[in-house]
Formats: sequence, C-alpha cells, structure tokens
Amino acid sequence: MRKKLWIVVIAAALLCSACAKSDTTKADASKPDADDSFWMSDITDEIFERIKGKSFKDDCTLPREDLRYLHVLHVDLNGETREGEMIVNYHIAEDVLEILRQLYEAKYPIEKIRLVDEYDADDERSMEDNNSSAFNFRFISHTTRVSKHGLGLAVDINTLYNPYTKIVDGERILEPITAEAYLDRDADFPYKIDHEDLCFKLFTEHGFEWGGDWEDRKDYQHFEIPTAQIEEWYPENQ
Ligand SMILES: [Zn+2]
Repeated sequence: MRKKLWIVVIAAALLCSACAKSDTTKADASKPDADDSFWMSDITDEIFERIKGKSFKDDCTLPREDLRYLHVLHVDLNGETREGEMIVNYHIAEDVLEILRQLYEAKYPIEKIRLVDEYDADDERSMEDNNSSAFNFRFISHTTRVSKHGLGLAVDINTLYNPYTKIVDGERILEPITAEAYLDRDADFPYKIDHEDLCFKLFTEHGFEWGGDWEDRKDYQHFEIPTAQIEEWYPENQ
C-alpha cells in the first residue's frame, strides 16, 4: 500500500513537470522570432571596431562599459519586419529594449534602426535617411559637458518626419535640412510623433521627456532622460 502511494506521488510529480515543460515550449513557440531577436550585450570587441573613431570618438569620455548594444526587430510602413541595432547607456537599456519590443508588437512603423556609425556618425545624414538611433558621443558646444546623446541617454525616432527646429535671430534652424514638409505638425503624414502617438506614450511612461514638449525649440524625434536624473548618475558631468 505504501509502495503504491509512492508510485502515485512520483507519477504525479513527473506529470506536473512534463506539463510545465510543455507550457514553456508552447509560450516560446508562439513568437520564436520576437523572443529570440530582442536581446542586449556589452560592447564586444567586434561591435567596438564598428563604432571606434565614429560614434565612439577618440576623445570619448564615457566608458565603453557604460554602453549596451541592443538587437531588435521593427516593422516598416509596409508591415515588413526588419532587424535593428541601437547603442544606449546601460541605465536605460532594459527600458529601451522593452519600448522597442512593445512598438514592434503593436506594428508601430519605424523605417530604420541602424547604428549612426553606418553614416560615419554624421547626424544630418542619419536624419535625412529617417534613421532612428541613440548613442553618438559629443560635448555640448563650448563646454566640457557631454550631451545626452553623448551619454547614450537620448533616443531619436523616425528622424526625417520628426525634425529638430529652432528660431535663432529670426532665422529657422531645421535638422535635417530636408524636413521642411514635416514642420506643419497639424498636417497628416506617416511616422508623425504627437501626444496621441504610442511612441510618445511608451517613452514617457518609462520616464523620458519628449523634445516636442519644449517651448524654446522643438525636437519631435527626441526622447531623453531628465537632467536631474542624469546628474545623479553622472555627477561629474556638470
Ligand atoms: Zn535627439
């Protein structure tokens, strides 16, 4: 009798573990590509070779160890799935990976997510190509402070359709220069980021500020970590 009871207990245990295993397998199998394709890594030697002297400039003061490489999927305007790569600061790596995964699952169109190094770290060229990217080392003009993109703590999305603009001495600055058609934010066009936009919602939920909310200038493509938080992470960068 006792023996029989043990057999029942063992059989039940085996059955349970089999169930659990098959459940996991099922969950993985439902979205094999998405699950396998969203991942992050350190800046390996191979990746470093691609960014050295470009986005990771010779005078880069941010340690390579503070950066993470993200591999993602995204959907273009035709609904085609594309592979993307982005480099961000480790403080926001999990958040950005999660945001890009949610955008992918919602089929939110992003045309290109390439390393800015493919444009020789030239922001203007990257923006004219509507590329989405994050890390690109530079100091804020005439200071020794590193910019938010320089720290990998700002992300630009669909950059041609969501330009940066500011009026200086009555003259309009526009970046990229080819984005004139997308200055009218009441007009209807693809990739437009506004307050109803999913991209805006996800980034702001994750603690980012949107450059489209600024008063003295507009940077519709741009999401960044607030300055007060960055001062905590990088107190020397002031
Ligand atoms: Zn930006």
